Amino acid sequence: MKTPAKKSTTDRRKPTKPNGVKYPDILRDLEGQRAAILAEAGVVLTSPTGLEIFPDVSDQASAEADQHFSFRIRERERKLLKKIDEALSRFATQTYGICERCSGDIPYKRLKARPVTTLCIECKTSQEEEEKSPR
Ligand SMILES: [Zn+2]
Repeated sequence: MKTPAKKSTTDRRKPTKPNGVKYPDILRDLEGQRAAILAEAGVVLTSPTGLEIFPDVSDQASAEADQHFSFRIRERERKLLKKIDEALSRFATQTYGICERCSGDIPYKRLKARPVTTLCIECKTSQEEEEKSPR
């Protein structure tokens, strides 16, 4: 017999990769942010829903994108866009949500608030302490 372990209410949309996505809503947030930045820069995306964006994360696509967009996108947006792309590729490699420093799981709430983060709260805090560097 087949009994689905858990029926999620979030997968009413057809998932691109039903097996791999750990945080589908955050993935959508990231895609939405990415689309918003690109839209701001005057770039028209193929899919306003964001569903078609995921496959574009390949290196080739973003390299081309860089060339096209660099003159229109401001430095700050470019940095954010890069972070978003990196986050999206972490989704692709299923390393999203894992802290870069301690390899622990980053809590969902933190990811939801800052989807591009690569550090858990403790590691982020100590990184900030280091950046502040005592005078
Ligand atoms: Zn950590």
